[in-house]
Amino acid sequence: MTIQQTTESITAARDARRAIGLGFPWGAACVVPVAAAIGGWINETPSSWLIAAAAAAAGVLMTAWWCRPAHVVVNASTAATAATLQRRVHTDAHEALLRNAIELRAEERTALLDALGDAVILVNSHRETLFANRAARALLGDVCTISGTCAAVDALGGQVHRAIQGVLSAQGGERRRVECELRGDESIPVVVFVVPVSSGRDGCAAVIVRDVRTEREADRMKSDFVAKASHELRTPLSALRAYAEMLADGEVSDEVQRAEFARIILSESTRLSELVDRMLDIGRIESGMARACHESVDFAVLAGECVNEQQSEAARRRITLRMARASSGSHASADRALMKQVVLNLLSNALKYTPDGGAVTVEVDVDNLARAVVVSVRDNGLGIPKHALPRLFGKFYRVENHERVAKGTGLGLNLCRNIVEALHGGQIGVESEADNGSRFWFAIPIEQAGRKAA
Ligand code: ADP
Repeated sequence: MTIQQTTESITAARDARRAIGLGFPWGAACVVPVAAAIGGWINETPSSWLIAAAAAAAGVLMTAWWCRPAHVVVNASTAATAATLQRRVHTDAHEALLRNAIELRAEERTALLDALGDAVILVNSHRETLFANRAARALLGDVCTISGTCAAVDALGGQVHRAIQGVLSAQGGERRRVECELRGDESIPVVVFVVPVSSGRDGCAAVIVRDVRTEREADRMKSDFVAKASHELRTPLSALRAYAEMLADGEVSDEVQRAEFARIILSESTRLSELVDRMLDIGRIESGMARACHESVDFAVLAGECVNEQQSEAARRRITLRMARASSGSHASADRALMKQVVLNLLSNALKYTPDGGAVTVEVDVDNLARAVVVSVRDNGLGIPKHALPRLFGKFYRVENHERVAKGTGLGLNLCRNIVEALHGGQIGVESEADNGSRFWFAIPIEQAGRKAA
């Protein structure tokens, strides 16, 4: 029922009430002259019944005038008509209430669809948009999702349009899946599901569009990792095989050369197992299988141990290696073995990328503001160019020229970041300039409030 129909019903009811309220006194006014006229006619007094008859006629005319409702014929059943209309008005109010309830539920439906991460568009067989949720408006733009236009389906392309036609014409209402790209400023890979909602000429279909950029990026990173890992594994394996074959074939008669080949085999196999170990360690942390065994660690003592362990290598390279500063009370809850692995890795890098005769220092501070123990390893070595800094903690990244300076896996810093950040809720960073040395640092929270057990 439309608003106009409702208004008409209310007007009719008012007319009826007016008929009852005003028509009644006038009707009563007619009764007396009519009775006088009848009396005059019976008593054969023509003048008096003629006057009474005229008065009665006037009364009837006045009644008819006052009771002229627009939509209701006023007669003896006026009261019954009014009652019927009253009931109609009551029904209209009920319908209005029902309509409100339906509208409310529609709002809830819209809120639900707006909460979805996927774009949802309802389209008819003419590919016109009937409804688009918030994600659809964000993905395709407000202009594309205006109701009644075909812009949304056009933006999704011919494949999706054909899928909609197919779904609406197919018997049994099968859904379809389309992989395509949304072309705009940047091309966005999407997976589109077309699901029939109602069939027939006036049928419509739900088009669900899923932005798969993140999934594609993850796939790309996985393939990248496999390619880099295979490359890194193949290099030491090829060397191992070549030297082992020469020894096995008896091609090396010179004792000194044989010893040299054996040393290369040992070094390459050590590098290979280090590479595999790091890959496995990183994999365990990233998959959430690794767990840190927390205990109270005195970082000043731990750093001192690491410095002592690296002293012979430093001496061999004539590098001055020392503890520069160690604040008292540098205790934090951490996994001691993993922390030692981080410090040793930073120290061995500092020695690797510092020319002979350089200097490496270790500092342990307590940052009272951040409530963290901060360990820094400084060197006056090769430094790192600015462009390389953002990629330094990534997997298999090595600064170009450094490959010639020292052997490495390109996984050490990534493992350090995983240990510090994922397992200890800490932070790791670097400050460096090309040819001007580096400062690698990491901070471990003193209290392990959100102890990570990744
Ligand atoms: P690697 O086994 O190659 O040393 P890392 O992940 O430990 O792998 O380091 C990644 C790269 O970061 C190194 O190849 C090197 O180029 C650079 N790097 C790390 N530490 C230093 C440092 N102290 N000085 C200069 N460059 C460094």
